Amino acid sequence: MEYKFSKLISAYDEGNGWLRLYNSQKGLESLIRVRKEKFERIKQNLENDGIFQNTADKTFQKLAELEYIIPYSGDEEKALEVKIGEQIYEPVLRLIILPTEKCSFRCRYCYEKFENGKMSDQLQNAIINYVKNNIHNYARMEVRWFGGEPLEALDVIENLSKNFITICKMAHRNYEASITTNGYYLTYDVFQRLYRLSVRNYQVTIDGLKTEHDQQRYLAGGIGTFEQIVNNLVDIKTRCKSRIPNFTIRTNFNKESIKRLDEYLYFFSEKFGDDDRFGFSLQ
Ligand code: SF4
Repeated sequence: MEYKFSKLISAYDEGNGWLRLYNSQKGLESLIRVRKEKFERIKQNLENDGIFQNTADKTFQKLAELEYIIPYSGDEEKALEVKIGEQIYEPVLRLIILPTEKCSFRCRYCYEKFENGKMSDQLQNAIINYVKNNIHNYARMEVRWFGGEPLEALDVIENLSKNFITICKMAHRNYEASITTNGYYLTYDVFQRLYRLSVRNYQVTIDGLKTEHDQQRYLAGGIGTFEQIVNNLVDIKTRCKSRIPNFTIRTNFNKESIKRLDEYLYFFSEKFGDDDRFGFSLQ
């Protein structure tokens, strides 16, 4: 049987002969360490002719089990083709909307100037009219709420969402939204309001463990934000019974925080590892 490596994997070289692997399709459960030399050998074999003679090899079996290695004619290719095909041929009205450019965080690496406040009524009405006049040209509509911190203008999200949902309903088009938020104001109550407005995907940035995160992502007054964000997510995880929403915890590692990767993985696996609604994007 011929095999190949999945296109959905990332590898981090520890520099001591070991690699850490992550399969974005499988999530946190896929994280493993493998000998770099063994990994390279298998990779070279598969790249040559798709064959690895010793399929009883433990590393090979582990890589196959976690779908780092897949059959050469595996569904991954087809699934990707279908996905790309959908994006090319199915016209989707995609809007990225910044309800406000303000934010009460002052992250070290932020590029925002916080000059523009909440979106005006005039601009909101113009967007609603645009959607009303153009929705018939599209198969469905997707909105991504972005900022600044979008939850600092929740009333704008609510006003626009209600209008979009009504317009899409009348035009028999599907509507769905996602949000990129710092997570500080994402209490269970706010989550419920967003969920009722068809916000299904939530991306929240947590830059490592408390010490490292709080050095990067703090309030304008300098107070850390880690505990509030983690508590919000744990509360949602515990109280939300629906399996539909999904949460991506995005982490930007730096030279310091990467040193505590093991602790980070342990901490977040303990909190969210048993819930497949929670995934990770490690940068
Ligand atoms: S949360 Fe986002 S918008 Fe706010 S300061 Fe941090 S990076 Fe900038």
